[in-house]
Amino acid sequence: MRRLAKARPPANVSPDGQTPRSFADAERAYLAALPSRPETVRFARSEYGRLEKRRLRQVMYSEQGSLCVYCERELCENNGPPHVEHWRPLSRDPQHALHWNNLYLSCPTMDTCDGAKRDRPLKGDDTDPDLPWPIELDYENLVGFTSQGVMCVRDDAHMDEATRRTLELAIDDRQHDGMPQRAILNLNHPTLVAARSAALDSERTRHQRDFENRTATRDEREQRATQLLRREQLPAFVSIRVSWLRGMLGRGR
Ligand SMILES: [Zn+2]
Repeated sequence: MRRLAKARPPANVSPDGQTPRSFADAERAYLAALPSRPETVRFARSEYGRLEKRRLRQVMYSEQGSLCVYCERELCENNGPPHVEHWRPLSRDPQHALHWNNLYLSCPTMDTCDGAKRDRPLKGDDTDPDLPWPIELDYENLVGFTSQGVMCVRDDAHMDEATRRTLELAIDDRQHDGMPQRAILNLNHPTLVAARSAALDSERTRHQRDFENRTATRDEREQRATQLLRREQLPAFVSIRVSWLRGMLGRGR
């Protein structure tokens, strides 16, 4: 999970052959009609369903460096295109059903990310605020990793208690008031931990090859981290790679 910058929404979200309509116009028309609709969620689903998702994805790939907004697996149009995900679920927040800042690409896996989250809100319990959108918070500074690829909420990071509680529940199963709670995004699923560990191995191997007879300086490691983060297509699990390059693995654990 990293902070993102949203690009301008698509200038046309109509399917091929239909009159072009911008995302902004679609949202405006939707919000104008919403108060008069008795079944808001059904109306939200129907209006959201009219958007040509391929055109949304085209913009979102570049916003996210073609990585899942949650787990940082690589995304592509082959093998089933990624899901356009409502950060705040449409069924609970129809007001933001067609809101650009609420839409992100998630990998199409069943047991993690949007496949695990479904209609659950990103919050610890109903009284908590929703976890801020990734345009509002530096998530990469709130979560950390172990050298085995396990993700954690850093105990040395500053955040309010509700954010910490929700982030912890997003990543792992928790106990709350003595009751078990299932992880919302399940970001320490064994396949993800193994994949992060493999990404780390590949980064280390490359590093050993490049600096065969000496230790890389801090500046050289930072340079590599910056190079990785500037790529149009980010490498899968870029956060753990950068965390290792910056000497942050295990920090705040
Ligand atoms: Zn994912």
